[in-house]
Amino acid sequence: MHEKIRTANRPLVCDVCGGMIQVGEPFRAVRDEYSPVEYHEHIQCPGSPAVAVSKPPPEPPKITAFNHHCHCMA
Ligand SMILES: [Zn+2]
Repeated sequence: MHEKIRTANRPLVCDVCGGMIQVGEPFRAVRDEYSPVEYHEHIQCPGSPAVAVSKPPPEPPKITAFNHHCHCMA
């Protein structure tokens, strides 16, 4: 997968949430190297799982320890 941030020069439909990406709006162009299809996504897509899910999924102990370290630095 290749991702590029581009600016829309024509109205596009977001492939994640189905909403419009307006002309002049930056968007993420995702290209699968195994297919010629290119996907367009909002930079901060309201339909993106990272945004839609309010709670992070359960994490294994290793990851939790890493997060704890991050909290110490914050
Ligand atoms: Zn979107």
